[in-house]
Amino acid sequence: MKIYYTCEHCGEAIDMIEVDKVDEVKFGFDCLTADERQDIIKIDSLANVMYVYSLCDECIESLGLANEGETEQKVNLLH
Ligand SMILES: [Zn+2]
Repeated sequence: MKIYYTCEHCGEAIDMIEVDKVDEVKFGFDCLTADERQDIIKIDSLANVMYVYSLCDECIESLGLANEGETEQKVNLLH
């Protein structure tokens, strides 16, 4: 399965990785609530692709979120 990381703010592709199996613990997805998962993760099972919405470094900086604990934590979790 391919996992695409996309910036939810500017839409830039952040990263793409390919895995045999999605390890929810390794990716930190097990820490998300069901609502957060629905917001952040979109799965296209036909194409075997998973989209993960996060924030790119530029947006984190331009939004001034770098020092905001909660968001930073969330983003780090997904990287
Ligand atoms: Zn961005």
